[in-house]
Amino acid sequence: MAVLSAEGVAFEVTVPVVIIGAGACGCVAALAAHERGAEVLVLERDPVPRGSTALSGGQIPAAGTHIQQKAGIPDTAEILEADLLHKAKDQCDHEIAHHIAKESARTIDWLAENHGLPLSCIDSFLYAGHSQPHMHATPTRSGAELLDEILGAVARAGIDILTSAHVTDLYADAQGLIHGIGYTRPDGSRETLGCGALILACNGYGGNKALLRKYMPEIAEAHYHGHVGNQGDAIIWGEALGASLKDLTAFQGHGSLCTPHMIHLGWAAFGDGGFQVNALGLRFSNETEGYSEQALKILRQPGGVAWAIWDRRCDTVAEEIENHRQARAAGAIKDCATVAEIAAYIGCDVATLQQTMDDVAAITRGEKACPFGRQFADFPPLAPTYCCAKLTGALFHTQGGLEVDTTGRVLRPDRSRFPNLFAGGGAARGLSGPSDWGYLSGSGLLMATNLGRLAGEAAADLVTPGR
Ligand SMILES: Cc1cc2nc3c(=O)[nH]c(=O)nc-3n(C[C@H](O)[C@H](O)[C@H](O)COP(=O)(O)OP(=O)(O)OC[C@H]3O[C@@H](n4cnc5c(N)ncnc54)[C@H](O)[C@@H]3O)c2cc1C
Repeated sequence: MAVLSAEGVAFEVTVPVVIIGAGACGCVAALAAHERGAEVLVLERDPVPRGSTALSGGQIPAAGTHIQQKAGIPDTAEILEADLLHKAKDQCDHEIAHHIAKESARTIDWLAENHGLPLSCIDSFLYAGHSQPHMHATPTRSGAELLDEILGAVARAGIDILTSAHVTDLYADAQGLIHGIGYTRPDGSRETLGCGALILACNGYGGNKALLRKYMPEIAEAHYHGHVGNQGDAIIWGEALGASLKDLTAFQGHGSLCTPHMIHLGWAAFGDGGFQVNALGLRFSNETEGYSEQALKILRQPGGVAWAIWDRRCDTVAEEIENHRQARAAGAIKDCATVAEIAAYIGCDVATLQQTMDDVAAITRGEKACPFGRQFADFPPLAPTYCCAKLTGALFHTQGGLEVDTTGRVLRPDRSRFPNLFAGGGAARGLSGPSDWGYLSGSGLLMATNLGRLAGEAAADLVTPGR
């Protein structure tokens, strides 16, 4: 990965808008740039575009969409913005949070109405930190289906994706203008391409152990559940160009990954009354603070594992989510008729686990306070048949990245803008603040789809004469 001098380099072919990465961000940027009249090409390192988007739950937060209005959900951009700022303890870029929340409805309406994405709002439960049902998803609630739908829209628009094209170099001049890129093909050959504007949509550095050890040693050795091709190329180029890089210590973890199956449970299992215990049968946290920060809480328990306990009522809600159904199909979820059966599964003392279960029931009935500050009162106590799964904590994606303005334009530390360089999705600084506790559920695809659209539109305007 390098930034090379553009001086004296002639490009045989130049495309007005070039995009690196064919995940949600890159594909949405391509749709937006194309719709604004720009010729656009997406380069993707893999033979088939999947990215972290296809591994994800595919749930995109938005506020005030036509879909929500039809369902009678009284959501507004102000509510989503407040939820983002509250979760990040006000330690994210306020201007970006405000703008993304404001634009979120337009992005979802446009994807659904102009590009035929079969989106609906998930209103059967609320994610931690969501004051309204913000999440929108395709019917199976899976990222694979979401990306397939977006790729279908890209194909219908006649936009080309050049696959098996691993971009290794950017060609820039002294002013930071990007003249083109260099990429390698599977046979080792190297090709170049000129560009009018460049959008970095190649996500973060979850797949790069050296960068993880440098910026987030506390999670670096945990299982990484995102796309391994995300090697931090955007931040490596950004650093070489002198771009502003922010919150590189921030990440989204996940505290409900079934082990050894490596499939994550639907979070509704906890949101509706389920909880977690360690190998001793003891609770250790407020499970509903957020699934991101729950990862480290689990990794700090004996053996770095925990067990989730919920019941059929919670399970019915969680089963709306594809990965939860996959976890059951894979045998990661054990149904237990009694507390003794759960204790045998965990390998802990029955009396200790019974006391933990009795304490949770008492907290639920309002007879005791939760030592971790959790409110259980909205739900009835768990009842047999119970469900149980062994969990570990995992890294889902990094949250730091290139600082951008509200059009996705990459900024220098003095906040001046690079002439024609844009970034979005996991390549850009997220809205989580500096750590693992600031990630509002769905913030990843929120930034991928919205910054993708905004960067695509702005890049098209930049390269279109007269605009
Ligand atoms: C298990 C899991 C569940 C998740 N669930 C959700 C959810 O429900 N809601 C939500 O909002 N977020 C979720 N996320 C986060 C979400 O997946 C990401 O925030 C989002 O997909 C990022 O989109 P992107 O387009 O930036 O990156 P990606 O989808 O990862 O796309 C980046 C693409 O760039 C390509 N690439 C990388 N480097 C190069 C290069 N040098 N040259 C060419 N191509 C390159 C990669 O191969 C990849 O295809 C989840 C993440 C995980 C791991």
